Amino acid sequence: MKAETLLEEIKSKIDIVDFVSDYVQLKKSGQNYKGLCPFHSEKTPSFMVSQAKQIFHCFGCGIGGDVISFLMKHDNLSFNEATRYIAKKAGIEITEPRFDKGTSERREKILHIQSEAMKFFIRNLKSSESAQTYLKNRGVNETSIDSFHIGYATNERDALFKYLKNRGYTDSLIKDAGLAVASASGGEKSYRDVFRGRIIFPIFNLQNDVIAFGGRVMDNSMPKYLNSPETEIFKKGDTLFAINLSKDEIRKKDYVIIVEGYLDAIVCHQYGFKNTVAPLGTALTLRHLQRLKLLTKKVVLVFDGDEAGISAARRSLSIVCESDFKARVLLLPEGEDPDSFLRKNSSQPFEKMLSDTMSMIEFLLNTSSSALGGSGGGDRIDNVRKALGMIADVKDLIIADEMLGELADRSRINESVLRSELKKMKKKAGPHSLKGRGPVKAVRNEEEYLLLSAIIAFPEKADNILSRLNTEDLKDETIRSIFKKIKTAADNLNISSLLDNADEEERVLIRGFSLNPGFDLELVDKNIDDCLQTLVQKRFEERKRLADVKEPDDAALHNSLLKEKRKLIKEAHL
Ligand SMILES: [Zn+2]
Repeated sequence: MKAETLLEEIKSKIDIVDFVSDYVQLKKSGQNYKGLCPFHSEKTPSFMVSQAKQIFHCFGCGIGGDVISFLMKHDNLSFNEATRYIAKKAGIEITEPRFDKGTSERREKILHIQSEAMKFFIRNLKSSESAQTYLKNRGVNETSIDSFHIGYATNERDALFKYLKNRGYTDSLIKDAGLAVASASGGEKSYRDVFRGRIIFPIFNLQNDVIAFGGRVMDNSMPKYLNSPETEIFKKGDTLFAINLSKDEIRKKDYVIIVEGYLDAIVCHQYGFKNTVAPLGTALTLRHLQRLKLLTKKVVLVFDGDEAGISAARRSLSIVCESDFKARVLLLPEGEDPDSFLRKNSSQPFEKMLSDTMSMIEFLLNTSSSALGGSGGGDRIDNVRKALGMIADVKDLIIADEMLGELADRSRINESVLRSELKKMKKKAGPHSLKGRGPVKAVRNEEEYLLLSAIIAFPEKADNILSRLNTEDLKDETIRSIFKKIKTAADNLNISSLLDNADEEERVLIRGFSLNPGFDLELVDKNIDDCLQTLVQKRFEERKRLADVKEPDDAALHNSLLKEKRKLIKEAHL
């Protein structure tokens, strides 16, 4: 299939509104859909998607394009990767070799080898009595084994390596995929499997591709858990276990449960808490939250109620504050993790605890790492300061204000006192680096912008505008260049071909106007007339000024200019 035809077919099968809705909450707004931009931080939505035109555009940061550019930008993919992914989703098979080159080919290969390895591990589990018994004893049922694609790595030195070699993969690819490591024993280079004698938990990305593995021993040997090394397609601090299985539920419930381990996440899912994810043996990072932000901005952090759990919760909370999430904390009884708690008590008590979680402020006031074990508490003033320190990190002023109010209520310290303490703290910490990208550049030649806007949003007006406008009169270079392109396209004016031929700066304007012309259909004719007249007027005034400078007393010249002005205005009225 030819690339152009393929792109057309993809676009005819995938609706941009449906597609983008998987990543951004969209609300209908007039002709378009509106939401919070995933590419810059904002409080009021300026990200628009047009179903009719199948494009998106952010009026805040200027990023926009079609469904493929959305995925490229969003998941940091190449054009080919994004096209392949969307084609697959649309059920179109790509045979065109052009879509199989360079980095994307390599990425595909590494993804492929991971899924081969996963199948290998799954088969191993089916034939290992001891591994199955282990999972059974840990309370992992058949459904979970299937949906999480749990497998097993035997204790052999290089079983997977040999298997993959036999399937035609090169040594270096197997190594680069993080599945084997080279070892020089007896002077001869050989490879051994990364995972041996472990239960294997495949790790998936949001698109449901397996990108790495986690392995747990079945006895008490160390390390208890082992992850794939980082590879071209796997970054530990970016990835959340079970995100592929929980994304829909997270969006539906509008909050995410974050637990600590693989088994915790699996057991939570098993007991019906399907909006649960887990970091991969690391603390929560800003990048994790960045990923989650597309699904929800509310988290419930679940921790063991012992000292280690509380200090882990504190660390996670400070990350949460920096990223404008709203967090609540669920502290389990001491010595319990979600896995053990659910297996002992089943879902009802967990459900109850979920409805009775602590706010961030409550958690900070009630727990203190120095005074554990007792009734909580610790040094009250110290805890209030800690809470203030955390509020100082919250960028979202509304959330910060809410937290401050709550802190005043709970600590019974006057809110204005807290406020001035907070101010002092912020001053010490220096100004926040809330740089953010400003809006698209200021409108200078308003008539020119409006005319362009009219012709793009209402292409049926093109003849009318083009016949009355001299493009050379346009002052704004970008606008002049776009008008020239429109003129060349003549009868075949359509947004997508116009976008194809435009440079980035021009594209920002074109997309923006096509989604929001800035005036209604009823007013478009009047606007066009007004703009054309004003342009004529301006041109005349400029020439008159030039004439005044050059020939201040030339009455004949001024007369002829006046005549010309009348003529031009008459023309503009036609
Ligand atoms: Zn934006």
